[in-house]
Amino acid sequence: MSSSVRAELVCFESSCRARFPITEVLYNCPQCGGLIEATYSGPRPSGAELRGLFRQRRLNNAPLDASGVWRYRELFPFLDDYAHVVTLREGCTPLLDSPIAAQYGGLDRLAFKHQGFNPTGSFKDNGMTAGASQARRLGMKRVACVSTGNTSASMAAYAAAAGLEALIFLPRGNISFGKLAQALEYGARTLEVEANFDQILALVRVLAARLGIYLLNSMNPFRVEGQKTIVFEMLDQRDWQAPDWIVLPGGNLGNTSAFGKALREACELGLIDKLPRIAVIQAAGAAPFHEMFVHGGEFKAVTNPETLATAIRIGDPVSWPKALHEVRSCNGTVEKVTEQEIADAKAMIGRAGIGCEPASAATLAGIRKLTAAGVIARNADVVAALTGNVLKDPDYIYKYHTGKLEAPDGVKLQSTFGNKSIVVPNDPDRIAALLQ
Ligand SMILES: *Cc1c(COP(=O)(O)O)cnc(C)c1O
Ligand SMILES: [Zn+2]
Repeated sequence: MSSSVRAELVCFESSCRARFPITEVLYNCPQCGGLIEATYSGPRPSGAELRGLFRQRRLNNAPLDASGVWRYRELFPFLDDYAHVVTLREGCTPLLDSPIAAQYGGLDRLAFKHQGFNPTGSFKDNGMTAGASQARRLGMKRVACVSTGNTSASMAAYAAAAGLEALIFLPRGNISFGKLAQALEYGARTLEVEANFDQILALVRVLAARLGIYLLNSMNPFRVEGQKTIVFEMLDQRDWQAPDWIVLPGGNLGNTSAFGKALREACELGLIDKLPRIAVIQAAGAAPFHEMFVHGGEFKAVTNPETLATAIRIGDPVSWPKALHEVRSCNGTVEKVTEQEIADAKAMIGRAGIGCEPASAATLAGIRKLTAAGVIARNADVVAALTGNVLKDPDYIYKYHTGKLEAPDGVKLQSTFGNKSIVVPNDPDRIAALLQ
């Protein structure tokens, strides 16, 4: 089906729009330095045909159809041969209604699209299956990223499954153990460099060209293509009824670009008949996108981004031009939330029996603010994306519930919904008395 579709890489800058073959190894436009995106032209099935096809594939056990990403392959047809695909049956994540979280957020109803149910526990898998498949198609033997977080965990797993060598570059001494543990377990070669994130990225770009390494960092356009399926699967689970709002956390803003592109393309293909509004939530200590959106002017990076929600501790987000375009196209908004607001919203998501990592909880904290301000109506139909699994950051959870969680500036956070364990004697009478 994809053979009749023409896929190309295009410079995202409207003043440039230079085009390149889909098989060119590009992370930025060689002419203007702009971001690169994939585009498709040529005949594609109608919205009704696609909806039927996707539904029918849910009954199929073939790996490509059982994947919650590749099931939607007509919506990102960049491969000419699906034998290149490496899948861990990513996606297929639940859409969970939560009355408890809805009430906390000031809404009549709220559903979470929980990407923490992915194979390595975050939405990075939706993108990584696409990026790793493109690496195989290009005949690459090695893939690399600069990341201490969910990107390295995900890349390590997909590289291992694909038989590619995984190289993870890290700033020395700045390691988050929970997520790094996954990378080590999946067999990635991990290199600690005496430099900061931006310096290492520049270094890796030099090495990539010299050693034929394929980069799977945020600016890789194929990761965005895979992440679009988070939205497609959510719409499919709602029988293609678009919600009013989609809320997600913003770090490097790759996911915001993916969500916006998915929604525009779903509208163009007739899969949905209205464009939902996107609300991006940033942590107050790492909110350059919020700053620009609210106050206008030039984009200014934050030099010392600080938040305990490490997955969104990004001062200079790579994908802000794409994200800005998407948020404006859908009449969306950007909000920021404090460490306390994130921590309490996270505990509420836990109390709802759902749970997530800190960055994900920025969504519910943001919804609470946006409903209070009247931006999102109480009766709006809202879906929030939970980006990572509750077990990614157990240290944060333990500290919150025992009153030991400190914000990066050293201020102790309130354990508003704290839940401490109780020490009891080995005595049934006293335990029974306590539990009365
Ligand atoms: C990567 C990540 C984010 C941020 O996504 P961006 O695309 O960088 O904006 C948020 N939450 C989790 C759990 C992540 O892993
Ligand atoms: Zn360009």
